Amino acid sequence: MKRLGVLTSGGDAPGMNAAIRAVVRKCIYHGVEIYGIKNGYQGLIEGNIEKMDVGSVGDIIQRGGTTLYTARSLEFKTEEGQRKGIEQLKKFGIEGLIVIGGDGSFRGAQKLTEKGYPCIGVPGTIDNDIPGTDFTIGFDTALNTIIEAIDKIRDTATSHERTYVVEVMGRDAGDLALWAGLADGAESILIPEKKDDLKEVISRLKRGVERGKRHSIIIVAEGVGSAFDYSEQIKKETNLETRVTVLGHIQRGGSPTANDRVLASRLGAKAVELLLEGKAGRMVGIQNNKLVDHDITEILKQTHSIDEEMYQLSKELSI
Ligand code: ADP
Repeated sequence: MKRLGVLTSGGDAPGMNAAIRAVVRKCIYHGVEIYGIKNGYQGLIEGNIEKMDVGSVGDIIQRGGTTLYTARSLEFKTEEGQRKGIEQLKKFGIEGLIVIGGDGSFRGAQKLTEKGYPCIGVPGTIDNDIPGTDFTIGFDTALNTIIEAIDKIRDTATSHERTYVVEVMGRDAGDLALWAGLADGAESILIPEKKDDLKEVISRLKRGVERGKRHSIIIVAEGVGSAFDYSEQIKKETNLETRVTVLGHIQRGGSPTANDRVLASRLGAKAVELLLEGKAGRMVGIQNNKLVDHDITEILKQTHSIDEEMYQLSKELSI
């Protein structure tokens, strides 16, 4: 292959720029031309495609978001949209495509591969919800953003003797809430994978009050329900003064952590290697600190699950 393309798609995640940089530099290192497709699959359909060079990815490794921009494209979900995308790739002479994004974006990459166009997926999402990799690009940064915010909330929670319910991102996956809970010593976490736990949260809160605890932090993943509803229920059942903080989109932004930059660099470079080896329809990942790759179709059949041992530990440590 002499010419490859790269795009970012779906929800942005800190570290996507480091992955773009790795793809571009790795291509140039191997004497392969590399084209950037702006605005994800929508930009692909529209032919929003530009040649990249060493300088196009200078000074972006430390920046959040994605310099190639991202978009959601309904048109690309149709056969016609995918056909238009392939036409554009062929027009530019691009022989293989690297897609940095979440599982939705991988479905797009799978469709292109099925139609004979080689794609490799790089997992970029703060949710850490993609099977076949221990970590996705952006998770570590989002987690650290949450920790910083909760540390601040904790100060005011202690001063005022309050229970704080903090809503974090995670529609289907509780990883951010679970890891944040452990890292921040939260009293309880509520995550989509364990829907029935409110009773336990309440009895734990009551026990805490009995032994003189001044404050509590409850972390709720957005997918399990609204933090405001939980706050009301907790107030009703315990008479504790509760407050809600919804962290929202601050979790998506910011300069990527060292871990995310290194992960993104490794995964981006690996994706290029796979295409140059003639592989297609694969997703790159990291497992036990080793780079791996899996069949995208197989990955999309699996559902993400949380680490049960960590979940149990979070309970044991917050007694
Ligand atoms: P993420 O990649 O973060 O999960 P989305 O689920 O929004 O984000 O997917 C991003 C884009 O990927 C969609 O806007 C669409 O263009 C494309 N996509 C998603 N699902 C499919 C599908 N089944 N077939 C083709 N393209 C898809």
